[in-house]
Amino acid sequence: MIRRLGRLLAALALTAATTVAGVTLTAGAAQADGCYTWGRTLSQGASGEDVRQLQIRVAGYPGYGAVLGLDGAFGPATRSAVIRFQQAYGLPADGIAGPQTFNRLYALQDDDCTPANFSYPELNKCNSDWSGGAVSASTARFNALVSMWKLQAMRHALGDVSISISSSFRSYACNSAVGGASNSRHLYGDGVDLVGSPSFCRLAQQARYHGFGQILGPGYPDHNDHTHVAAVGGWSAPNCGI
Ligand SMILES: [Zn+2]
Repeated sequence: MIRRLGRLLAALALTAATTVAGVTLTAGAAQADGCYTWGRTLSQGASGEDVRQLQIRVAGYPGYGAVLGLDGAFGPATRSAVIRFQQAYGLPADGIAGPQTFNRLYALQDDDCTPANFSYPELNKCNSDWSGGAVSASTARFNALVSMWKLQAMRHALGDVSISISSSFRSYACNSAVGGASNSRHLYGDGVDLVGSPSFCRLAQQARYHGFGQILGPGYPDHNDHTHVAAVGGWSAPNCGI
């Protein structure tokens, strides 16, 4: 927290000094962020790895029932996601990712690129290297990262509640040990089982707005004691009206 606060203060100081001799530097040009630093303002029509990095971090803001593509192309869906992110944090909602938006993201992300309130160990209680699942270890780890950014958006929308995770990435061995479905998204790294407060139904209902293509909760077989979210697969939580 102190580390993040320090970075935020540094970012604010930088913002105050971005116009030098009439030349306005682009967002965060000199920002020393431990994870990723954007070097230009991004708006609709832009493309590249910096757009993809932005998309990962606003993946939790696609709107109801939608999933944001992580294709590095800043189209209308990315613009809408940026607007929702800006609205969620009280920023001018212009759909353009500039210094204010990037500074908010810098404040939200840890040095390993995970969002402030989630971590890799929380998403992998199975093994230490993300191996043994249905995809490569690096893909599983990346999929978990994207799910974390979606969960960060969801927890903020719920009033910054603490969201507890009972199970996420599983190798085939870990999946078998807990009796997981043979095609479980836990094998891909993006499946996450949520427990605790708020209620399972509240979690399932809110998840519909944050980029989860799969939501399984109360009323779906074997899902009365948690709510499962993942990137793809469809929704079913009959006891929650889903
Ligand atoms: Zn699950």
